[in-house]
Amino acid sequence: MSFEGNRNFLEIENIVIIGSGPAGYTAAIYAARANLSPLLITGFKSGGIAGGQLMTTTYVENFPGFPDGVLGPELMDLMKAQAYRWGTKFLEEDVDLIDLKNRPFSIRANQSSIKANALVVATGASANRLSLSNESKFWSKGISACAICDGATPQFNNEELAVVGGGDSACEEAVYLTKYGSHVHLVVRASQLRASAAMVDRVKANKMITIHWNTKVVDVKGDNWLESLIVRDVLTNEVNVLNARGLFYAIGHTPNTAFMQGQLDCDSKGYLLTKDGRPETSVEGVFAAGDVVDSEWRQGITAAGSGCKAALAAERWLAQKHEINIVPRKELEPLKVEKNELIKATTKDQFKKDAIWQKGNYSLRRLYHESKKPLLVIYTSHNCGPCHVLKPQIRRVLEELEGKAQAVEIDIDEDKEIAIQAGVNGTPFIQLFKLKELKNQWKGVKQRSDFKNAIEKLLDKEI
Ligand SMILES: Cc1cc2nc3c(=O)[nH]c(=O)nc-3n(C[C@H](O)[C@H](O)[C@H](O)COP(=O)(O)OP(=O)(O)OC[C@H]3O[C@@H](n4cnc5c(N)ncnc54)[C@H](O)[C@@H]3O)c2cc1C
Repeated sequence: MSFEGNRNFLEIENIVIIGSGPAGYTAAIYAARANLSPLLITGFKSGGIAGGQLMTTTYVENFPGFPDGVLGPELMDLMKAQAYRWGTKFLEEDVDLIDLKNRPFSIRANQSSIKANALVVATGASANRLSLSNESKFWSKGISACAICDGATPQFNNEELAVVGGGDSACEEAVYLTKYGSHVHLVVRASQLRASAAMVDRVKANKMITIHWNTKVVDVKGDNWLESLIVRDVLTNEVNVLNARGLFYAIGHTPNTAFMQGQLDCDSKGYLLTKDGRPETSVEGVFAAGDVVDSEWRQGITAAGSGCKAALAAERWLAQKHEINIVPRKELEPLKVEKNELIKATTKDQFKKDAIWQKGNYSLRRLYHESKKPLLVIYTSHNCGPCHVLKPQIRRVLEELEGKAQAVEIDIDEDKEIAIQAGVNGTPFIQLFKLKELKNQWKGVKQRSDFKNAIEKLLDKEI
């Protein structure tokens, strides 16, 4: 699915939504259906990738409407598709500055400067990480920031598990995980827990939990899945190994509010303060939704519900205070969006030497040897959230270049040998070739301009 077309920004937007997690997309769906032509600034890097936290997980089993579960990135693609279908405009940038002192509000996102009468802040919160050297390798392959979300994963069943942290969340998660694991190690950096007395008693009384006091996790090891933790006693410096197949972080979250620079009231941890149970913030016309206001429930469905409230409240506020610039839809019933079918590898019969995007090892072999154009090889895997973000961006670059460059997608589960040969150790991974020579490579989501500039440089050399 690629939804990049709708870019008719208004001089003053009715409503700008910042953040593209469940809260932001839900707010966009409601605002778009109210003919407000909302602009959604998706986020890019500073507060997590577009699509939000669920882009970083595999199966979501507790979002209503999906009895067999749904992959996090797929769920977010569907929310985006729904917001797009009803007329939401998207800007794939991070907001770095807002001015709420003057009206209309001003929002700066990279190169773009936007004015808006109302604002919904749905920038979520980022789970704090330990920054271990092997952390990214085992993220979602043993390491998780959400025991409630991921505890029932089959790989954890009857295995030793570990929780790191010393507060209420860490204790709760340790107790919760005893339902699934054979034993739970609670790794605590201090010599006491910061949790409530009742919680501490529950943990200490539970024979399935061992507390490792004064202990720090210093690294993680494994092959394709986490197998052990390296821990160090902070008092004696003694290093030990815990054979845990799961490591759950409960070391707090940081709400993504830094760019607001104190213009909205926040609590001591930076969470936005709103009226009790309502989306109104301390500035009239600014509404907040999702994890950025919620340090307690932090679930996809609660975020979506609060996104709905924020959009409805914003619409009512705009109707009372402003002349809304209604943008009627062309069709009463917009066209249905294309379903995100799993694209299969291109076969010999389907191969086209000038197609801009093909998939699999047959196309790669042919284009690598025969194409004279710059060739992007994009290594992906189906469960990888960042791949869902990156692929439409690269497609757009190739469309803008009108076929002067080509891409082949390699699914690393389907074409393991090729991935090993290319030294891929995570997705997305992108290589740029010209006449069989490797010119550039990137790991992770990058700006569209990085790819475009690199390709244009090669094209310039041809002239
Ligand atoms: C590993 C993991 C697994 C989880 N599993 C589940 C589950 O199974 N079920 C469940 O219900 N919940 C689960 N959760 C919790 C759930 O993901 C969150 O509660 C939910 O995503 C919060 O939604 P949100 O819209 O408030 O924020 P987020 O999803 O955090 O989205 C925030 C958005 O804001 C954007 N943003 C941040 N800063 C800026 C900026 N400066 N400018 C522009 N945009 C910005 C980000 O790019 C992102 O798009 C899980 C969380 C994690 C980390």
